[in-house]
Amino acid sequence: MTSERLYLYDTTLRDGAQTRGVDFTVRDKNTVAGWLDDLGLDYIEGGWPGANPTDTAFFADPPPLKKTCFAAFGMTRRPSCRASEDAGLQTVLSTSAPVVCLVGKTWDFHVTEALGISREENLDVISSSIEEAAAQGKEVLFDAEHFFDGYKANPAYALACLHAALEAGARWLVLCDTNGGALPQEVASIVREVSDSVSAEKLGFHGHNDTGNAVANSLAAVGEGCRMVQGTLGGLGERCGNADLFTLIPTLMKKMGFDVGVSEEGLRGLTALSHAFNKLLDRNADACAPYVGASAFAHKGGLHASAVAKRPSLYEHMEPAWVGNAREVLMSNQAGQANMLMKLKALNIDVDPDDPQLTTLLEAVKQREHEGYAYDYAQGSFAVLALRKLGRLKAPFSLQEFTVNNQGVLAHDGRCHIVVQAQLRITIGGVETRVMADGNGPVNSLDSALRKALLEPFPELKTVKLTDFRVRILDADTATGATTRVLLESQDEATKTSWTSVGVSTNIVGASLEALIDAYLFKLALL
Ligand SMILES: [Zn+2]
Repeated sequence: MTSERLYLYDTTLRDGAQTRGVDFTVRDKNTVAGWLDDLGLDYIEGGWPGANPTDTAFFADPPPLKKTCFAAFGMTRRPSCRASEDAGLQTVLSTSAPVVCLVGKTWDFHVTEALGISREENLDVISSSIEEAAAQGKEVLFDAEHFFDGYKANPAYALACLHAALEAGARWLVLCDTNGGALPQEVASIVREVSDSVSAEKLGFHGHNDTGNAVANSLAAVGEGCRMVQGTLGGLGERCGNADLFTLIPTLMKKMGFDVGVSEEGLRGLTALSHAFNKLLDRNADACAPYVGASAFAHKGGLHASAVAKRPSLYEHMEPAWVGNAREVLMSNQAGQANMLMKLKALNIDVDPDDPQLTTLLEAVKQREHEGYAYDYAQGSFAVLALRKLGRLKAPFSLQEFTVNNQGVLAHDGRCHIVVQAQLRITIGGVETRVMADGNGPVNSLDSALRKALLEPFPELKTVKLTDFRVRILDADTATGATTRVLLESQDEATKTSWTSVGVSTNIVGASLEALIDAYLFKLALL
């Protein structure tokens, strides 16, 4: 049985570019277009030619695409001139993109108030613009702006706008929830009513996430027959964003059985694609993102982990490997023996399940979590703790003593200028040495001193980089006497592995040093 075809239209490079804090370069746009083409998406909207220099340059030299249809976005003609004479519309039509998506008004309130023209005139604006685009050989999408609000206010007029576009040659009528206020049941009932007079094969849906329902609304529209869905990578987009393709693609394929043009292999690349996309945006990944987030298949509760160990489907809605994600069992104060055994196995630490030290380890984890350690994040520190409690940590170095010296002045502008120097007394291979290093702060100077001492005897540490440093005050009500937790993220370029370590102390330097030492011990003992 062949599954039914549903078309995906990506607008990451147009609507997604309207996300606060996102600023694509032409090079970024080329990279993303290449990824989407590899994934097998049907359409990529590259931007709005003529609207800004980046989009104009991107369309002037479009990316070479194997499968995906390249689309230009623009708007219907201005009411004051003919379609053939509208410079903005002609710029959009002049690119080599075979597809154009033209946004037009379908809410009578917008027609009379924003455009200031009659309803009939707006129908002519729509049909003449679509006709012009079709006459130039384009596949045309009519982007029915504010369709759901318009339909609620004046259903006959909203439908008349769709018919004007359809009769003028539009291939797709995209029903837009532009303000993002529609709810799934409204989307379903309106699409159902629209499909009484327009073939659902012609209908698309473009949803915004202002009520947290962009994906749910898209699925409601699909359920009523829409055969095109628009979305963006990671749900980027104006205000609260658009429907997230990382959620839509696996849902449409694996839960609803649609053929969306993405292969099973493409689907398996989804988690890696989301990592690459976050890296391009230089933003932290959302751990709780459905399907592709780091926590999407992570089990923290002891009860869950012991059941998952027997049969994963007891606490998982699908196989994580389908989207290239992986099951993870976390250690924490919520954990039981099952979490611990699975975690140790994943770390390649062989243990006898009856080893009495396992109970000691579990108790230590729970006690330390009570003090503020967070082993569900800091799996690197859990590994070091496990080796220590199981008596298997052959500590390659030990730090005897350290001092950090801050010397500074308070300048006239109220800013502090400080010179920091750290000194360590450290034993490596039975030999005690002293090292000294400067840094731009206490933690940086300690790390510099540690690296100075360790890189020569342990050259494998040269490829380890600290990639993130997070500090949290745990009991803020005790003010300056509060406990501080430091989480350090490290990455090893040689093995392409990353791990997190944790330190807790009333002194931020002490907490940081604990986390630093665990970070280096993890690499030396386990990689
Ligand atoms: Zn939008």
